[in-house]
Amino acid sequence: MTEPNSPVVSTNFIQAIINDDKKNNKHDGRVQTRFPPEPNGYLHIGHAKSICLNFGIAVQNGGLCNLRFDDTNPTKEDVEYVDSIQEDVHWLGFDWGDRRHYASDYFPQIYEYAVQLIELGKAYVCDLTPQEMREYRGTLTEPGKESPYRNRSIEENLDLFTRMKNGEFPDGARVLRAKIDMASPNLNMRDPVLYRIMKSEHHRTGNEWCIYPMYDYAHPISDSIENITHSICTLEFEDHRPLYDWTLETLGIFRSQQIEFARLNLTNTIMSKRFLRQLVEQGRVSSWDDPRMPTISGLRRRGYTPEAVRDFCERIGVAKANSVVDISLLEHCIREDLNNRGRRVMAVLRPLKVVIDNYPAGQTEWLDAENHPEHPEMGSRKLPFGRELYIEQEDFMEVPPKKFFRLTPGQEVRLKHAYIIKCESVVKDASGRVTEVHCTYDPETKSGGSQSGRKVKGTLHWVSAPHAIAAEVRLYDYLLVDDKTEETEQTDFIARLNPNSMEKLTTCMVEENLAQATVSDRFQFLRQGYFCLDSRDSKPGALVFNRIVGLKDSWVKEQQKA
Ligand code: ATP
Ligand code: MG
Repeated sequence: MTEPNSPVVSTNFIQAIINDDKKNNKHDGRVQTRFPPEPNGYLHIGHAKSICLNFGIAVQNGGLCNLRFDDTNPTKEDVEYVDSIQEDVHWLGFDWGDRRHYASDYFPQIYEYAVQLIELGKAYVCDLTPQEMREYRGTLTEPGKESPYRNRSIEENLDLFTRMKNGEFPDGARVLRAKIDMASPNLNMRDPVLYRIMKSEHHRTGNEWCIYPMYDYAHPISDSIENITHSICTLEFEDHRPLYDWTLETLGIFRSQQIEFARLNLTNTIMSKRFLRQLVEQGRVSSWDDPRMPTISGLRRRGYTPEAVRDFCERIGVAKANSVVDISLLEHCIREDLNNRGRRVMAVLRPLKVVIDNYPAGQTEWLDAENHPEHPEMGSRKLPFGRELYIEQEDFMEVPPKKFFRLTPGQEVRLKHAYIIKCESVVKDASGRVTEVHCTYDPETKSGGSQSGRKVKGTLHWVSAPHAIAAEVRLYDYLLVDDKTEETEQTDFIARLNPNSMEKLTTCMVEENLAQATVSDRFQFLRQGYFCLDSRDSKPGALVFNRIVGLKDSWVKEQQKA
């Protein structure tokens, strides 16, 4: 386990590169990173890793981190996503100051650089169809073939490129390509496309442009314009780095350095925005912020804290090889945070009525209950106790198995913060189901009283029937049933959807103190897990709680086995 308070990125290989760069006074020792989301969906937990890394590296090195919307593909992008991304980065605790940029702001400059490349004889307009382009590209084992348009004159290229920009040709008719090397062993260097014709409206530039730059060309230029020193991206761009470097070197502009790290993969989780969008659009989840979604907004609505997400990103570290992280580590992080800060309360999810026959009808007694056993400064509250209570259905069994230390005929249990009770008889309905358990209580055993030390094997949570308030509680399970996260791109993830990823319990009874709960509160429902109000669906008088995470920690257990 890492030290809980170690700096976010103290000792990873990226920091080692930066240490070297500082030693050599590269870029005058300056460090500037950027987080470059494409606004084509909501951010997910994988992006959180990138955010913590980029902003963390900047903070740790006295540098800056920019937020840049990589909005070079007009057809998939939307302002809804731009807004949600900013909200999520802020929620995680990071700030870009006055450095919020859009790649689309650089379209004029990116275009000018393309003209320069043509003038340098390093780019040409190509009329091959997409099909022909594929055929000419060659394969990993065979070199490509040069396009018949490769040796167009600079004048002709300038003329055609200008006319592409002016909208004279239909979508896909022509492209601008870099003139590099059709025999390069790296396919990305075989005259890659720099610009394509796309008569689509852009969410920021409207219809101003009908040609759009490719990511591999726009990205290095955007980094360079912003004087980014270290451009951190995920491993799949490793083979694109030569093109990144070629672009900056050929144009002779500020040399940002691309550094690749392994993306986060999580068991039971799908992360690609493309797939997440599919879940939303097909109505398989309620929205991008459905509490089962691995989006940052989903985690937030579920009740995760930014501290827990940052802690998780710290613990998984930064590596150069892809791997899959067990989702139980993420759960461990939130559990640890909430164990410390979650107020203890009692809630009965599946109520069973208990009547204490020897307790006077109509009498209510107010008992003291601590809000947190380890934090006396969190205070205590008063709990009403009376003749009629609710306990969990599963805490009573008429014919118990061995070692059932809960309520059963003739057996005593302690009610948390209250008394020891003993089951005397049951009431059943016509189908034989127990509908009421009749008990007696021992008035000498009040918690905190002189006899409270008497030991019984089980302690149950409960609520007072006339005082408790009704609530809905939503229990969540994983969205996906198995662990083949690394292959998610290829496998049919719809077939892996867990049909039981949400259970709605609509007849829960929670202690009346929860009527004052707000969405920022986090609770431990004793013996049940950690819960918070659902920020969308909960209303005063009609409370809806989400289970953030259960109490059982499978990650710690795994670690102990290992
Ligand atoms: P997706 O495949 O989910 O759509 P993306 O890489 O296309 O992800 P971008 O918006 O382009 O999404 O990503 C913004 C930044 O976040 C990039 O630098 C990208 O490398 C990083 N990123 C995306 N997914 C992950 C991940 N799973 N782990 C770490 N970083 C990630
Ligand atoms: Mg992308």
